[in-house]
Amino acid sequence: MIIAIDGPSGAGKSTVSKSVAKALGFNCLDTGAMYRSIAWYALEHGVSLEDSAALGEIARERAISFSHEPGNPAPKQVFIDGVDVTGDIRTARIDRSVSSASKHPEVREALVEQQRRIGSQGDYVVEGRDIGTVVFPQAEVKVFLTASNEERARRRVAQNETRGVGSVDFDEVLADIVRRDELDSARETSPLVAAVDAKCIDSTGFTIDEIIEQICAMARA
Ligand code: C5P
Repeated sequence: MIIAIDGPSGAGKSTVSKSVAKALGFNCLDTGAMYRSIAWYALEHGVSLEDSAALGEIARERAISFSHEPGNPAPKQVFIDGVDVTGDIRTARIDRSVSSASKHPEVREALVEQQRRIGSQGDYVVEGRDIGTVVFPQAEVKVFLTASNEERARRRVAQNETRGVGSVDFDEVLADIVRRDELDSARETSPLVAAVDAKCIDSTGFTIDEIIEQICAMARA
């Protein structure tokens, strides 16, 4: 079974995905981490984020993998080309750059193929922007999670504080979230949009536990 959780940055997708996966005994796939890893690799190797051919080659050739602790569906580490980038892909620099890397069809094609391969190996909660529309249009459960801009910025700051990486300046995080939404929604390939058959949940007025329970109930129905 695939549970697709899409939505803009900071809507709570990661927290919700991990908890839903834990509650149901599913695996977790964070597709945003894959796009972030491509952006990191390009910046690290001086590749322009406008060079679609070079970025496509990185996405095809440089293996992205995740390590897990037994019993925990959330990945512990993220690697690209054997390098541990777990913390490095969460910095403000990558926040600013990732939408430029993810807009290229060559990159998306390569990553979507990998995401489908991973998801075919078991029961997965897959989070991203185009999971219900492009990657797994046949997903049994589709959720489009949103929240107000301010709420999303507050959550992202709290998450960055916990992780110890990324900006903890509310205004900077809010500006990044709004800018990234615009770029992710305006791109030509797989723009950020809810699948017609997705359940749209505005999490602003709910606790994370209420959202988790709602999604688990959809999966069990
Ligand atoms: O979810 P997260 O904020 O980590 O995603 C980082 C970026 O990766 C997004 O802003 C978007 O540009 C890209 N992304 C995407 N498609 C996905 C997941 C993420 O384009 N399925």
